[in-house]
Amino acid sequence: HAEALAKVGLPAITRDGHRIEVAANIATETDARESVEQGADGVGLLRTELLFVDRQDPPTEGEQLAAYQAVINALDGRSAIIRTLDAGGDKPLPFLPFPKEDNPALGLRGIRSGFAEPELLDTQLRALLGVTPLSACKIMLPMVSDAEELLFVRKRLDTLASEMGLTERPSLGVMVEVPSAALLADQLARHADFLSLGTNDLTQYTLAMDRCHSGFAEKLDGLHPAVLRLIAKTVEGATRHGKWVGICGALASDLDALPILVGLGVTELSVSAGVVAEVKAKVRTLEYEACRRQTTVLMNLTSAKEIRARARALWPDA
Ligand code: PEP
Ligand code: MG
Repeated sequence: HAEALAKVGLPAITRDGHRIEVAANIATETDARESVEQGADGVGLLRTELLFVDRQDPPTEGEQLAAYQAVINALDGRSAIIRTLDAGGDKPLPFLPFPKEDNPALGLRGIRSGFAEPELLDTQLRALLGVTPLSACKIMLPMVSDAEELLFVRKRLDTLASEMGLTERPSLGVMVEVPSAALLADQLARHADFLSLGTNDLTQYTLAMDRCHSGFAEKLDGLHPAVLRLIAKTVEGATRHGKWVGICGALASDLDALPILVGLGVTELSVSAGVVAEVKAKVRTLEYEACRRQTTVLMNLTSAKEIRARARALWPDA
């Protein structure tokens, strides 16, 4: 058992020496513990919505800090990317006075709800700034559509940190889950410390297909060539500013997609805790240069179905 545990923590490196960080998507302290047991290199997405639902008042700064700190402590030296509240739209909160919207997916959600309720955003940022060590806490903003939004939050974070007497600043990254963010990746990467692709929403917004619509399930595939081109564009923009790109949408847990994501130059994958070991094992079978070469060919195919079939043939599961 000790041997299995030791192996579980090993890094995921391709046969030609290219390292991929394999992190976990979590929501709670219990999930954090499980992700460490599964061998995750850290947490690539902590969804904070759970702290805010099913209550009449928002959680206080102290309550939030306790929850974030518990996760960081459970990670035992690893770091967590903590996403600010991604509510609003189809996930209304009792204490948010937002009107009902005709198109919630295109409405007041993600960071936009933070702009509409600045005190809610400030409280969460203050709680995040209270985490120790601050270097283990990376902040990520959902549904950012351009650099102006990022710059606003960066400035706010700076002001709050100064008020708290802090000299250190946490890493601040953005999710790329709206096509405009992928197209503007170079501008975002100039001001962000990292970019993480939310392929669930990116696929929905790129194809203009509701991610929950059962009739589109087959077509709603992150391997769609349009989505792959936006991922490539994101990596290109980030590389220009020496920033790393991760994926925290479900596509990162998709073993068929893995060689393509590696080939696109993504260096972090945040996956469900249950597949961390499998994803790491598959990375070790890959050759980065071959992934790159094949991916440029696959991206010219005309459907996700074709791309998936070719990927399966090229990189069959061991
Ligand atoms: C995504 O959109 O891919 C994502 C990771 O965020 P969520 O699924 O929470 O919208
Ligand atoms: Mg999303």
